[in-house]
Amino acid sequence: MKIIFAYPNNNSPQPKNIVFGAGLTREIGREMRNVNVLEISDRLTQKGIPTDFKGNKVIAWCSAKTIEVFQQLNKNFQTHLALPKGIYVEDFAGLNVDSQTMLGFCNLLPTKLIKGSSEIIPSRTVFFNTFETAKKQLPPEEQWLFDWNYINEIADVNYAAKQSSTNHFLYFFMHELSHVVHEDRLLNKLGGQALAKRIEFVKNAKQIEEYQKKYGQKISKICEYALTDQFEAIGCDIPRRIANTLDNETLIPIKNPFLGTPYERLSLRQRINIPFYSDEKRPLDEILRNFWNGKFK
Ligand SMILES: [Zn+2]
Repeated sequence: MKIIFAYPNNNSPQPKNIVFGAGLTREIGREMRNVNVLEISDRLTQKGIPTDFKGNKVIAWCSAKTIEVFQQLNKNFQTHLALPKGIYVEDFAGLNVDSQTMLGFCNLLPTKLIKGSSEIIPSRTVFFNTFETAKKQLPPEEQWLFDWNYINEIADVNYAAKQSSTNHFLYFFMHELSHVVHEDRLLNKLGGQALAKRIEFVKNAKQIEEYQKKYGQKISKICEYALTDQFEAIGCDIPRRIANTLDNETLIPIKNPFLGTPYERLSLRQRINIPFYSDEKRPLDEILRNFWNGKFK
């Protein structure tokens, strides 16, 4: 549901010191800087996605690109990836959220999110942080960590801190959209009430402990953040599968990222042929298949 912004505590990195590459080419950087945010908003409105990017070019460009990738997957590989109900950029100090330093989140249930407002925000709406208030609490040399213009480096830092499953710069966007896709699938499969109950179950502190005890070792192969809960395991796992199939220059998916994964649609016969595993023996992909299908116990 959310990404906690994290970086190594004792040795706060400077942008130039980071040595990995997260896929943002010079050409893409130029495109991002020259983008017309209102034009992007218009384009997304036409796709039925209301947005308010507050003029943030990086968030607007990356959101639109990620949606384009998801639509290409649907068109080329007959996947059924749902799109968000809206994308908004806000100072998280003004929202009813646990942490003001999250990069973004997707709300799983309809909620009153905006402080001082009774407006109910529909589920599957995605928010990204302006960091306006959070930034002021950091020493000047670390403020770049809350600056979206450094998205390539921020993606690297998060990956190095095992808070994300890939260092691809679109990770944060693919992560939130993966929640949307998962949520949409479960909503169709279970209905709103049953899903709300399962979300309550998953987010329960005792259950989280149980989850980590039972599956922690295998789930931590995705990344540490996947240990947060079962929804985050899916939110972290799907983006790394997609990132692996994106062409570096064009960001077009060159093959179906879901073939042979827990997210592939199986025939009845294939489903029946999945062997039975005890919880301890279950391979990571089968654990994820269960979560994907709403089996969280
Ligand atoms: Zn998440």
